[in-house]
Amino acid sequence: MNLYDISILLKEDIVVWEDKFKPEIKQYSFIDKGDLSNTSCLKMDLHTGTHMDLPYHFIEEGKKSDDFDLGYFFMKAIVIECRCTAIERKFLESVEIPENVKAVLFKTNNYLLYRKKKFSKNYTYLDVDGAKFLVEKKIKLVGIDYLSIEKYGENEFPVHKILLGNNILILEGLNLEHVKDGKYDLFAVPLKIANVEALPVRAFLIKREE
Ligand SMILES: [Zn+2]
Repeated sequence: MNLYDISILLKEDIVVWEDKFKPEIKQYSFIDKGDLSNTSCLKMDLHTGTHMDLPYHFIEEGKKSDDFDLGYFFMKAIVIECRCTAIERKFLESVEIPENVKAVLFKTNNYLLYRKKKFSKNYTYLDVDGAKFLVEKKIKLVGIDYLSIEKYGENEFPVHKILLGNNILILEGLNLEHVKDGKYDLFAVPLKIANVEALPVRAFLIKREE
């Protein structure tokens, strides 16, 4: 089986949005110091590393984590390579998205930004008309290999609102560096947390023989 882990490694010095809210992963009990066990505590923003934005993130009455069954998080996916800065409708129209594909993952040059220690503003993003195109295509999940699907500095967040307003989940913080473009089965398995707007995800792809 060809299994591809497309999640980012979660650690304290991970790149986070605008370099705010780095996660804290603290071990507070140590066997080598006489404690009965090794035990750690994690504190983090839910939008850290590989995570999924749910409608409630930008839509007042939008769906929250409780509203999605586990079955919603696996689907046929296509990885699309895009070396441009803005992913636009014209580009998307040139890609053949098979009828049964419900998730679109963008593999971009953003992986180079993850190698830097600091947050970068000039990442590749999906533009507004591109988002509308994916709504028309009845896509259920859109993923990208950096911390936001939206152009940096878009204060009204139109792309998030278009996607989430149509119940399209957004998978951010992917690592697609070692994955070729093409069709896969996507498993975007989130933590089971009550009533929130985003979920940390372990995401992976399986390549099946065609
Ligand atoms: Zn997010």
